[in-house]
Amino acid sequence: MLPPAIASQPGNMARQANATRVPRPAPGFDQGFLMTSPVRPTHTPVVTPGLSHASGHPVRVGISQCLLGEPVRYDGGHKHDRMITDGLGPYVEWVPVCPEVEAGFGVPREAMRLVGDVAAPRLITLRSKQDQTARMIRYTRQRSRDLRALNLAGYVFKKRSPSCGLRRVPVYTRDGHVLGTGTGMFAEAFQKTFPLIPVEDEGRLRDRDIRENFLERVFGYHRWQTCLLESPLTRGALVSFHTAHKYLILAHSQRHYRQLGSYVANAKRFTPRQLAHTYGRLFMEALAVRATRRKHVNVLQHLAGHFAHALSQTARRDLHDVIHDYQQGCMSLDAPVTLVRHYVRVLNIPYLQDQLYLAPYPRMHAPGHTGRQGHA
Ligand code: SF4
Repeated sequence: MLPPAIASQPGNMARQANATRVPRPAPGFDQGFLMTSPVRPTHTPVVTPGLSHASGHPVRVGISQCLLGEPVRYDGGHKHDRMITDGLGPYVEWVPVCPEVEAGFGVPREAMRLVGDVAAPRLITLRSKQDQTARMIRYTRQRSRDLRALNLAGYVFKKRSPSCGLRRVPVYTRDGHVLGTGTGMFAEAFQKTFPLIPVEDEGRLRDRDIRENFLERVFGYHRWQTCLLESPLTRGALVSFHTAHKYLILAHSQRHYRQLGSYVANAKRFTPRQLAHTYGRLFMEALAVRATRRKHVNVLQHLAGHFAHALSQTARRDLHDVIHDYQQGCMSLDAPVTLVRHYVRVLNIPYLQDQLYLAPYPRMHAPGHTGRQGHA
């Protein structure tokens, strides 16, 4: 049996579930899992412009150039990270940036570090003690303009670098003692200029959950930017975008799910500019909230509630068992999601076919990627 009374749960989602409960299997599929064999009209999937992964716009992600294996470090070396290039490379188009080389410091060059006030450190060369802060700030302003034109959807920074480090970069006193930690000068400026673009450092991306969440945010941001680029943001376009992301948002944050739902319902009160600004901020905030196993089970049960009644008792039990096993930590998230996606496809449920929760980013056989794992 499926978890009890999914269909009777109160709220918008249940109402929507009732409104869209017309499961119709796609022709040609084995229908042994069905309770009945309903008549099936042909279904043309509703494709919302700008929501597909194949939008025609490349998914560009900035990256500290040394992580790609380019010999741009102060000593002429590199920090090639195969977990990044092999694990994320197949999904994105890299935009390599080495702030220190591009600012004109050359290779090899004198090493630098952050010195002084932890909240506003200076960039100082190690041996000759030259202050290069102004030069880096000038470069950063110019480069930010170039990067804006490239519509980046994410950025991977080299950890602990005085230019690229996102967090825990040592800040020293003038006489060389560690005073505290801060953010690399370029990374700090980048985040101030592009506050919604998902960023991570290569150290954190070794964690599979963080890596998958980063991909979700990168593709979520890319779809949002594509939606804004392809046409002026009308209320209709916003509703389409939000509808396709409902379950993905719910898997991360119920609070944002309610907030965004109410914002979209009241969209008429806002200008397109206000809509784009507020929705984009809340949407990216939502995806950054950790999606737990409990939240995923909640979403899977809601999804199953749309079509469970059309399944045979055996198929319903199997689906329940897979969700239960995931809940108990016996299998990865990929298993129940794949099964739900299968039923959504063969039962031909348009509303669910467009749900990005079932495919938040393209499926690729990248080394080191073993499918969505979910969280403990
Ligand atoms: S950490 Fe940043 S500045 Fe340093 S070599 Fe790598 S890309 Fe260049």
